[in-house]
Amino acid sequence: MTTIHWFRRDLRLADNPALNSAWEEAQADDSQVVGLFVLDDGLWGPSGSPRRDYLLASLSALSESMGGRLVVRRGDPVDVLPSVAHEVGAQTVHVAESFEPYGRARDEKVESDLAEAGVRLQRTGSAYAVSPGRVLTRTGTPYRVFTPFRTAWLDHGWRGPAADLGPVDWADLASEPLPEADGEPLRPAGEAAALERWHEFLEDVDGYDSDRDRPDLDLTSRLSVPLKWGEIHPRTLLADLKQVRGDGAASFRSELAWREFHADVLFHSPEAATLSIREVMPDDAWAPRSQADRWFQAWTEGRTGYPMVDAGMRQLLAEGWMHGRVRMIVGSFLVKDLHIPWQRGARHFMQHLLDADRSQNQLNWQWVAGTGLDASPYFRIFNPVTQGLKFDPDGDYVRRWVPELRAVPGKAVHEPWKLPDPPEDYPDQLVDHSRERKESLDAYARFKDA
Ligand code: FAD
Repeated sequence: MTTIHWFRRDLRLADNPALNSAWEEAQADDSQVVGLFVLDDGLWGPSGSPRRDYLLASLSALSESMGGRLVVRRGDPVDVLPSVAHEVGAQTVHVAESFEPYGRARDEKVESDLAEAGVRLQRTGSAYAVSPGRVLTRTGTPYRVFTPFRTAWLDHGWRGPAADLGPVDWADLASEPLPEADGEPLRPAGEAAALERWHEFLEDVDGYDSDRDRPDLDLTSRLSVPLKWGEIHPRTLLADLKQVRGDGAASFRSELAWREFHADVLFHSPEAATLSIREVMPDDAWAPRSQADRWFQAWTEGRTGYPMVDAGMRQLLAEGWMHGRVRMIVGSFLVKDLHIPWQRGARHFMQHLLDADRSQNQLNWQWVAGTGLDASPYFRIFNPVTQGLKFDPDGDYVRRWVPELRAVPGKAVHEPWKLPDPPEDYPDQLVDHSRERKESLDAYARFKDA
């Protein structure tokens, strides 16, 4: 009996337990696997074109590794899955489990519609080393703080990479053509490119601990993008890291634990996708709408007059990615200097990031805004100038992304307003950091006292 593997955020063939499960079932029946991807308008529409182009490139790479047999159908999975199952007479649809609110709700609907037709939705594995909901305290409650979560996560452990069961016999089923891309993907997509990047990064993992906060050095893995699409699984990374000693490997493992922690928090508190977990500001402390709109626009375009913030926002537009340290700086600036709620920044990131992931994005924004569970305290307000001087000490990162400042040498680039002859085409500071900082702290104090 033909069986279906429904690819979602697992766009790879290796180390894919759900695909293995589909292939085992097909082999037992001397049959084939339909490798299906549904272009779901609910997800396709809201994605910005960099993310759509990346996904199209990743799907092309996947299809190529399947000998061109990837079956693409466009529509609502609730309609597409029962129809394809009927078309090929499948009894099971295999998937890696989704844990985010949208994916969970979708899968429940698909599951019940398939069940009416006598077809089972079989969930095997997920995008995480330990699936959300599994790491619990001794009393069976979810962790609210990262460090004890990480300890328990390490204690819980995970299976090694899934076995290689040999080439899958893919069914040859009519596929719709992929939509036209708007342009070239902003970085190489697909499983092979992800593995290549991982092996290259692993050679230099030693320096990761000391230099990962330096956007000028650009030494982080940039694997957030393949991890988001499941072109590589964290299990593969964790298994390789086990062979490596030193602080670099430990620190990288810890970052992967943050990814698992955020997924766990959103699983237990799905409302955190839109609502602050903790309120920290009185409603009247946010910037009035007309001013907020103007400031927000300048922030998105990288024209705030704060070089470190502008460099980050321009990197986001150019690369669909921003260095992690800089994400914190621009986020703090939006919420605490411009007094704009984190949700608005998170929406902009979701539009532009190739690695945009609801659990990672929303909970990192809540961390920055001080509203999350284990968040940076609200009163910790990043100073965009001192952050620049510390993490981009020679100003190379700023000069890379802000051409108006390219002629300014060294660290002076972080305070162009102090130059005897400031570049005319670079914007003035939108706000005065010390004044806005005080305003935020006063509002926070009012809120605490109320
Ligand atoms: P590396 O430093 O090489 O880290 C390795 C991996 O660890 C990353 O690929 C990622 O999977 C994980 N990781 C690292 N830092 C974090 C973190 N703070 N939280 C969770 N996982 C982490 N990450 C996303 O994947 N998607 C997002 O939508 C996203 N939005 C963010 C929004 C804000 C405001 C902030 C402050 C951070 C956000 N992050 C997000 C987390 C982090 O910035 C990126 O994962 C990281 O910068 C990606 O670059 P990298 O792969 O080179 O990271």
